[in-house]
Amino acid sequence: MAAAGIVLAGGKGSRMQSDVPKQYMELLGKPLLYYALKAFEDSDVERVVLVTAEGDEEYCKKELVERFGFTKVCGIVAGGAERYGSVWNGLKCLKENVEENCAIKSKTGEVHVTDGAPDYVLIHDGARPLVTAELINRMITETEQYGACVAGMPVKDTIQMTDERGTITLTPKRDSLWTAQTPQSFEFFLAYNAYEQLMQEPEINVTDDAMVVGLYHDIPIQMVRGSYTNMKVTTPEDLVLAEAFLKKRV
Ligand code: C5P
Repeated sequence: MAAAGIVLAGGKGSRMQSDVPKQYMELLGKPLLYYALKAFEDSDVERVVLVTAEGDEEYCKKELVERFGFTKVCGIVAGGAERYGSVWNGLKCLKENVEENCAIKSKTGEVHVTDGAPDYVLIHDGARPLVTAELINRMITETEQYGACVAGMPVKDTIQMTDERGTITLTPKRDSLWTAQTPQSFEFFLAYNAYEQLMQEPEINVTDDAMVVGLYHDIPIQMVRGSYTNMKVTTPEDLVLAEAFLKKRV
């Protein structure tokens, strides 16, 4: 059964307070985005679509795919204004003929011949450089069993909900709370159909792929244990942490 990845790097990274978009900032001498692409390259995923900010396609082709020789990147497409629009562009690129729909082909310029959509899709934030091939492969195995999975970890802190004045309105029981990470993985058409419907009503505010699949499909979604190091690099202090974790790994 074939699995494909969508690596998202179409965000502006405005919380990073940097002139260089965060996905291209260097961590241990390599662009942040390199690390997620490398994990996918080393995994059992057959092909990967990279979603970039509009206008960055050529830069990513040269500075990531060609420079590091990623052979599984079969397409580079521009993202949308919101994350869900970027996911949708990635899904379309995987479903339709790669040759016709992806702006940029593989590193050598030859076109990967695919027979259409993959069986499974793993959607991953390019801003999570600590993902590993091991986690990606485990997500594929779990998705073969459950159909829809989210990598996550039990929360360590107590989470409280507040109203607009900051008054606490709810303290959910901690032992049932998890933070959702990526990869989030699905039978391809579960994700495709859900996003297709979402794009008809884009006023819905979504931040998570499982949320989208859960909105349109009445199916259980399985939480899969990720890792506390599989963090999303969002603000400047996250870079220090991510670099420390990466250093420990190499
Ligand atoms: O904004 P957020 O932190 O949720 O972004 C998570 C991931 O989604 C990042 O890797 C970012 O580059 C990507 N993204 C995207 N297109 C957008 C917004 C975010 O691909 N329009």
